Amino acid sequence: MLKCKEQVHGHLSVINGVGSWDGKVQKKFPLKQVWDFFRPKLPVVSWYKLVWSQPAMPRDQFLCWLITRGYLTTGDKLLSWGYQGDFNCAFCATAVETLNHLFAECSRYKGLYSCLFSKFTSRIPSNSWEVELNWAVTAFAGPSATCRVGRIIWQSLISSIWRDKCKAKHGKQILSLEKVQVRVKSDLEVLCEAEDVGKFL
Ligand SMILES: [Zn+2]
Repeated sequence: MLKCKEQVHGHLSVINGVGSWDGKVQKKFPLKQVWDFFRPKLPVVSWYKLVWSQPAMPRDQFLCWLITRGYLTTGDKLLSWGYQGDFNCAFCATAVETLNHLFAECSRYKGLYSCLFSKFTSRIPSNSWEVELNWAVTAFAGPSATCRVGRIIWQSLISSIWRDKCKAKHGKQILSLEKVQVRVKSDLEVLCEAEDVGKFL
């Protein structure tokens, strides 16, 4: 705290009765510069635009951020923490639930990927979450309508896998691939009023 106070005093001064930062007289106090001074500066991640660009459904963006950060509690984490139970994949039960399994290897991911991206690409998805994420980052990097829609669909795909996984774990019925497709299309229609979403999905 004391160190912080010393740092602030090195930059903050009062010139002609107005608070200033780094000795420059400005009409308004430069709050942004002060905030930039204090906030931790980390390198920009490659998936920043894929997850956070607009338009988007905030609920999907937030889940995608947690997933790309690896913050969600997958079965392998629970096992490593000593919990007992069935931590196999809730969709296929063929492997322990890991980030890589849910968002690359699992038949649910591959099925949804084919369903949602068939008009975008004939690419066959890999078995690696890292490869899948990098593909989406590159494929939907631009400002075009295709990229904007692609980012929204990717966010829907990733977030719906996690939501449906949670439902399945609690014994609830999950949506068929076709119904997920219908829901994503209706989200697209809301978010991209001016676009002809039918040509993408
Ligand atoms: Zn699975």
